[in-house]
Amino acid sequence: MARYSGAVCRICRRENARLYLKGDRCYSDKCSFERRSYPPGQHGQRRTKISDYGHQLREKQKVKRLYGLLEKQFRSYVEKAEGQKGITGTNLLVLLERRLDNIVYRLGFAASRNQARQLVLHNHFRVNGQKVNIPSFLVKLGDTVTLKEKSRTKAVILESLETVARRGVPGWLELDKDQFTGSIKAYPQREDLTMPIQEQLIVELYSR
Ligand code: SF4
Repeated sequence: MARYSGAVCRICRRENARLYLKGDRCYSDKCSFERRSYPPGQHGQRRTKISDYGHQLREKQKVKRLYGLLEKQFRSYVEKAEGQKGITGTNLLVLLERRLDNIVYRLGFAASRNQARQLVLHNHFRVNGQKVNIPSFLVKLGDTVTLKEKSRTKAVILESLETVARRGVPGWLELDKDQFTGSIKAYPQREDLTMPIQEQLIVELYSR
C-alpha cells in the first residue's frame, strides 16, 4: 500500500490522540483534534463498542501512523524487537525512536516527522560526518547528526529550530544549536517516551 497522502488531521481524530503530524499548527488552537475530538466520517459521533482485537489494532495503527510507516516496515520492527533482550514493547518503541527521521524531528531540525523524512531524503544531514539519506537509518549511542553546511541557511530548518523550545529536546539527546549538531547521549527509557501508547496491545496483536 502506498504512503498515506490524505488529510493528516483525520488520522489524529481516527486514533483519538494528538499525534503532532502537522508541525506548528499542532501547538495552536487551530488543531482539528482540539475542535472535533471524535472520529471523522458520517458515523464518527456514534458510540460503538470496540472488541479487544479492535483496541489492539487501533493502537498499532496509531503508532504506525505516528512514525509514518507502512505495514511491512512496522512488522519488521516488531520482529526485530521480539528478537532483542528485554521487554518487546519497549524495545519496539526504542527502535522507532532511533530512526534518523525521528532523531532529526526530536532535535528540532524539522517541525514534523514527515518533514524530517523529506529533509533526510534530500541529503541535508550527516551521521558521524557521513552522508546518510535513509530515513529508517538506526542511529546508535554516541552518534552525531549534523546539518550539512550548505543547508544551514534553509528557512524551514531555521524556523523549526527557533520553535524547538516549545517542544523541547528530550533528555536522551543533546543539541548544539550553534554547531547544528545533535548527539545521542543514551537510548530512551520507557518513561522518556511520553506519548500515550499502550505498546503491550501491539505486541499482543502480533502474537495472535
Ligand atoms: Fe493532529 Fe496536528 Fe492536526 Fe492537531 S493539528 S489534529 S495534532 S495533525
